[in-house]
Parts: sequence; C-alpha cells; structure tokens
Amino acid sequence: MKLDILAFGAHPDDVELGCGGTLAKEISLGKKVGIIDLTRGELGTRGSAEIRDKEASDAAKILGVAVRENLRMRDGFFQNDEEHQLEIIKMIRKYRPEIVLCNAVDDRHIDHAKGSKLVSDACFLSGLRRIETAFDGENQEAWRPKLVYHYIQWKNIEPDFVVDISGFIDQKIDSIMAYDSQFYNPDTKEPTTPIATKNFLDSLHYRAQDLGRLIGTDYGEGFTVERYLAVNSLGDLI
Ligand SMILES: [Zn+2]
Repeated sequence: MKLDILAFGAHPDDVELGCGGTLAKEISLGKKVGIIDLTRGELGTRGSAEIRDKEASDAAKILGVAVRENLRMRDGFFQNDEEHQLEIIKMIRKYRPEIVLCNAVDDRHIDHAKGSKLVSDACFLSGLRRIETAFDGENQEAWRPKLVYHYIQWKNIEPDFVVDISGFIDQKIDSIMAYDSQFYNPDTKEPTTPIATKNFLDSLHYRAQDLGRLIGTDYGEGFTVERYLAVNSLGDLI
C-alpha cells in the first residue's frame, strides 16, 4: 500500500499528541496516512502493553488512518543502529510515503530524540539502492521520502512552521483520550505521571490555541524542519 504521509512515534500516543490534528486534517483532504509506533510503551508507569495496543487501535480509528503498525522495539532501550535502521527502512520502502513525520528533535523522554534521529537517518538510508532489504520474501526498491518533519512534544521548541488545525482539535483530543490509561482521570488508582495531570490535559488545548493565535487561526500544531522550507511563490504561505 502506498501512503502519502507516514507518521512515526517512539511510543503509542506520541503521534496523536504531536500531530494528531494535522493527520486528521490531511485525511479529510483525501491523503492516505499511516502510523508506525516503534515500541509498545511497555515501560510506561500506567497501563500495560496490552492495554496500550487496544488504545492505539481505538485512536487510529478516531483519526481514520489507513494503517497502524507496531515495530515492538524495546521501550527505553532501542538504539539508532544498523539493526533498528533496517527495520525502519523496511517500513519506508513498504509504504513509500512522500512525507514522514517523526518525534521531536529534543525532549524530556530520551526515546523521543533517539526515535527522531533513528527515523530521520533511516529515511536517508532508505534511498540508497545498495542497501538491500526484503519484506514478506520480496526484495524492496529504494525509496526516500521527499520531506521529513519533526512534531513538537513536551518541551516548547520553536516551530519552523505551524499547521492550521482549526476544526480538527476535537478529533485530536478524542484520539488522545482513547489512551484512557495514560491521561488525567480523577477516578483512577494508578500512580500519577507528568502526562496524567489535569494541567497536562489542559495544555493540549491551550498550546494548540497559542500556536493558532500566532498564525492568526484558532488552533495550530508546530513542526521543525531539516532543511530550508521552499515555496514556489510568496503567496503560498497563509
Ligand atoms: Zn513518548
């Protein structure tokens, strides 16, 4: 299956938190979108890998993505090395996306920057035809996505551009709340975590609203780039 956009996240819920509104919007515009989680988030303080598998599947349905896979790398301990790069390259060659979205370049959780660099390096390597890979017994063709963008997560990183997600904020938050075990719930007996506070829940809304304010719309999601943004005409920007 050929996809337009493939979003990677180190943990299930990273993609929804970082770029769920953008994905919902692109899907509404007719783009084919997939999500690949690197780990099952099995080291998470709350919930379990099995619970998070189910939550990730529910969230994927809310966003309307065409496919979601989990590479079952080790939460906390996966590395940016040949073995892991080849796993990502196989996914890039399988889905041949034009655009790849991946974790924040710098963040509180060490897997985020690690996952960010791993996916970015694999996007480059995937374009080298002398790196041979096979999937389901078939040799794969080299494929390099045209664009790699990094979404923003826990830390307030200055975005290089902001996507207007007005009209898609509810769908984004619904997809995040599908992860019932992870976020604010005053009735749970699970230990609290930085993302399980009411403050964090509120921040989903006000951070998107603040980015929207800065671009003159209701809500936004910010991204960073790896090379200069190119436009055909000055009128391309909103
Ligand atoms: Zn994460």
